[in-house]
Amino acid sequence: MALLGQSIPISFNRIYVNGEYVGPNSKNELSLFNPKDNTLVAEKIPIADKVDVDNAVKHAEAAFNGPWASFTSSQRSECFRRLADLLETRLSDILALDSLTTGNPVSLIPTREKNYIKNCLLYYAGWTDKLRGDYFPADDGFVKLVRQEPLGVCVAINPYNSPVASLFIKAAPCLATGNVLIVKPSEKSPLGSLAVAPLFEEAGFPPGVIQVLPGDGKTGALLAEHMRVRKISFTGSVATGKKIQIAAAQSNLKRVTLELGGKSPAVIFEDADMDNAVTWTVNGILARTGQVCVAASRVYVQKSISGKFISQYVERMKAAALGIGDPQDPDTKYGPLADSAAFEKVRAMISRGKEEAELVFGGNRIGTEGCFIEPTVFLNPKPDAEIYKSEVFGPVVVVKTFDTEEEVVEAANDTEYGLMAGIFTRDINRALRVSARIDSGVVGVNCVSMMHIQAPFGGKKASGIGREFGEYALRAFTEPKTILIK
Ligand code: NAD
Repeated sequence: MALLGQSIPISFNRIYVNGEYVGPNSKNELSLFNPKDNTLVAEKIPIADKVDVDNAVKHAEAAFNGPWASFTSSQRSECFRRLADLLETRLSDILALDSLTTGNPVSLIPTREKNYIKNCLLYYAGWTDKLRGDYFPADDGFVKLVRQEPLGVCVAINPYNSPVASLFIKAAPCLATGNVLIVKPSEKSPLGSLAVAPLFEEAGFPPGVIQVLPGDGKTGALLAEHMRVRKISFTGSVATGKKIQIAAAQSNLKRVTLELGGKSPAVIFEDADMDNAVTWTVNGILARTGQVCVAASRVYVQKSISGKFISQYVERMKAAALGIGDPQDPDTKYGPLADSAAFEKVRAMISRGKEEAELVFGGNRIGTEGCFIEPTVFLNPKPDAEIYKSEVFGPVVVVKTFDTEEEVVEAANDTEYGLMAGIFTRDINRALRVSARIDSGVVGVNCVSMMHIQAPFGGKKASGIGREFGEYALRAFTEPKTILIK
């Protein structure tokens, strides 16, 4: 099916196995819709079944034990660099393809997405020969060598919001350490992942090192319970993360990394740079229309500045609402929610939220077709309000005021999640003190809702297990082996 004039030569009714697009065994299929108007984008996208999964695992094992095993670390690095060069000209089209189903604005591609993916590749290109094992001397008659070995067949199960970036965040450390990867993109946004796959072989990776199996939760479950898969690197909801951990435990105790949801607090102290705090917190909830795990969805502002902050914050949200539009228009800053299921879920949460908190701005549908929703601000929630406690995954924020540091630390930590937090203050002592007490995997000081490839990223509590990014991701794709030499 032709895709709105896109020029990428791929067959969407195929799966990508062992270096080529092949017809699936499965007869089950998906259709994809553009959330800006719910028109059909593509149909006959396969839902890979058990035969398809087994076949991909077989080819992955062959690549892992065969040609890929003979690549030196510098050859692996060269593949990464060639891939980064290829992406320079091809990535924009691939990301634009995903925009058709995610609703992510194409305006983000040149400024954010391309750089992010390229940095990720080049960063791990530099790591292929630097992950060291260990050595302990023979003071008791035994030399002890520790090798850091790849795990084998790994699987990336990805969410819908940022599909190609998710693919690279997992593929880069996975392949840098000599593993092979099967990617299971979200049923809502498989196109970019299918389109990018052949570039790996073009860059020199052997066939089977990366394969893409489109499908739904059933395909993901087949991979999670597969006896020959050695690791699942999952990004998605808490509910699915729990299922994957259970499947891993009940099959072969495969290794699991879980990057899950969040309800990230941003804490604005009275000495903060107000303009900076407003800018970060507004961007932090509106980026990708709130469909990011690190969305700044709870804002705590100290009472002495709350009137001024809230009025500036709401004004900025009103202005931002003017930037909502057609995601394929290069001037659009914010797009729709990703599909009608997400749209209905967010609207229902807003509707229930009105019973439990004060709606001060937004909450309405924009237009009559498509999945557009206004930026939405609630104040003063009841302590257990769903809108305050649960991840919305939409452009919806709850603002609360506080008096003391003690009080706000307790409130910020009173959640099952622990992914990201932001602290806004000019007092470095307070910044360090509060950072240490906030129970989350990442804390931003005078910033929020961001991540950096060099530093570990991941959640505490129900926000996940393990870390991505930096050297930590390499450790998560390897296991130590001790060799005792007499
Ligand atoms: P989801 O859990 O519904 O789906 C994620 C993936 O899991 C999809 O590919 C889906 O097909 C697959 N899946 C579903 N059931 C499965 C099963 N039983 N076994 C194996 N795989 C299964 O999540 P989503 O709605 O696509 O994404 C939104 C969620 O992802 C939000 O909670 C968000 O916070 C989270 N997220 C987290 C991060 C992070 O880095 N922490 C980043 C992005 C998104």
